[in-house]
Amino acid sequence: MIAEIRTLLTQNDNFYITSHINPDGDAVGSCFGLGLALQKIDKNVQVLLEPFQSRFDIIPGNGLLTERAFTGDAILICLDCADFGRINYKWHKLANSLPCVINIDHHYTNTNFANINYVDGNASSTCELVYRLLDDFIELDKDIASALYAGMVSDTGGFRFNYTTADSLRAAGNLMSFGIDFTAIYTELMLMRSYAELKLLAKALENTQLSGNVIHVCVDQDMIKSVPNALSRDVEGIAELLLNTKDVEISVLLYEKEDGDIKISLRSRNANVGEVAKKFGGGGHHLAAGANAKGNIYQIREQVLSLL
Ligand code: 5GP
Ligand code: MN
Repeated sequence: MIAEIRTLLTQNDNFYITSHINPDGDAVGSCFGLGLALQKIDKNVQVLLEPFQSRFDIIPGNGLLTERAFTGDAILICLDCADFGRINYKWHKLANSLPCVINIDHHYTNTNFANINYVDGNASSTCELVYRLLDDFIELDKDIASALYAGMVSDTGGFRFNYTTADSLRAAGNLMSFGIDFTAIYTELMLMRSYAELKLLAKALENTQLSGNVIHVCVDQDMIKSVPNALSRDVEGIAELLLNTKDVEISVLLYEKEDGDIKISLRSRNANVGEVAKKFGGGGHHLAAGANAKGNIYQIREQVLSLL
């Protein structure tokens, strides 16, 4: 599959690269990393991404975020997208009009929606898959290495999660050899919080509840609006934090977005919560999964808890 994708990359000139809605570090890192690499071999590249959290501004490649129509055919490369619906709907028409879509992803729930599908549900991150694709194919540089390293750090929780392998660390080691600022990348992506995020976190923590070995919290719009300058996406990452509670097996974060949709985030030590996310039309990994639901946040919590 890698050889087939390399041939397509070599033989074509125009590439759109996109990733999932509400982009995370792996989405931004893989789009910018691959985009910069293709630009290096004189390809025309445009990255289509929704606005993302400012912490990801540390990832080089922002200049690729332009939206212009190519003259002539283009290939669309979808990164870190488990299914076609994870791409912002405003790019669906474009995607459907193109002759070739390539899907590179590491979610086991991936639906193989493209013409070419390179899916490895055991890989630590999409950035690691992009690294495999580029290694011995396009010469990397500091910016490409920073982008790919950033995605690997975020999706592995700092090389901690179970899909981290010796190969992941070898890849990260090679990326470090380009002189990247790994301390700044880790700090910015994993540790830094705005003051609003900090205050909202405090409120959320105060509202956590335990049901057996499941810890859960609902963050509704009233709570979000009670913190000056806070947005719903400022609570992202809390599910991860909650799982670090003694004797807890599963953590659940539900938050009400500005548009009224309910975001479900699930984290687990052992049980496959990806199956529960699927029941709500979502997906992800066995130990980290999510979904977007419609309805009352507290009723959805009851449904999630009874499924768990
Ligand atoms: P998070 O809880 O951090 O948003 O997501 C955890 C994992 O589940 C990520 O790998 C993410 O890509 C995946 N995920 C989150 N929301 C959805 C969703 O609505 N649909 C699918 N297919 N995957 C999701
Ligand atoms: Mn990912």
